[in-house]
Amino acid sequence: MKKTACFIILIALNSFQLFGQNPLMHKVVNLVSGDSIFNNIALLEQMERCTPDNNLECVNHLISSLDNNGMDTIYLQNYTQGWLPNIIAVKYGTLFPDSVYVLGAHYDSYKSGAPGADDNASGTSGVIEAARILSKYKFKKTIMIVLFSGEEIGRCGSKAFTDSIVNNNIKISGMINLDMISYVNNGNNISVSICVNKLSLDLMKIYTNALSVYATNLKYAVDSTSMIVSAGDHSSFWDKNVPAIMLIDEIDLFSNNFNNYIHSNNDILGLSANSKIEAELITKSAVATLINIIEMDK
Ligand SMILES: [Zn+2]
Repeated sequence: MKKTACFIILIALNSFQLFGQNPLMHKVVNLVSGDSIFNNIALLEQMERCTPDNNLECVNHLISSLDNNGMDTIYLQNYTQGWLPNIIAVKYGTLFPDSVYVLGAHYDSYKSGAPGADDNASGTSGVIEAARILSKYKFKKTIMIVLFSGEEIGRCGSKAFTDSIVNNNIKISGMINLDMISYVNNGNNISVSICVNKLSLDLMKIYTNALSVYATNLKYAVDSTSMIVSAGDHSSFWDKNVPAIMLIDEIDLFSNNFNNYIHSNNDILGLSANSKIEAELITKSAVATLINIIEMDK
């Protein structure tokens, strides 16, 4: 028992030291810009993103955002005719290309005409911002950026994606899902909830270490039991036994911190997506976690 305890502490210390002592990681993480994330939310909230409506304006915008940033490969996964596709971009690892980690968010909105600024133009923009920065550097392992459609109609996009991964014998080693990262109820602290299952506790530990270095004033809670724990695209990865965490700006459907603007015409920038610093810090901590895992190549 003692040996096991020491081993766990050593792993935790090791990742903490990596976060604290890598100047290049500091430089890269600090490139994450809340302004850049909010500028993209402003564009996305104007675009139709309802999955069955299949309006490709947002798809073209997201593809060109990823393309301009120099990812190695970009492709679409059309899983149901007449629906918006999943958008996938890959930056291959230099040493271990078969070791693959996913950063994802759903870009679809709840209904036709719903602006979906916090849910989930915010997470989508956080992922695009991460891609903008990560694409400029080399990493030993592979990073896959996945923008899912169909989340609001039953996680259809992420289910199709994880099915295809299994069918093609691609092993995903871990996944981080950004789903709503920019809302703070008036007077509350900026915060993040980390939704986990048993399989994802090691990933969560690296993430909380990242928070302790890059987002010290972001309050956090770990959630493994609430109603929303499995209500997101990370859950499709859990179904395939892949470690995954969801980062979300609230935890409890019934607390007064819940964002009641989502799924309505009031899910707009300023009112619902209202905390640029929260979006920036959640994205920074996700980027730091990924860099810690996929390792910078020099
Ligand atoms: Zn959502």
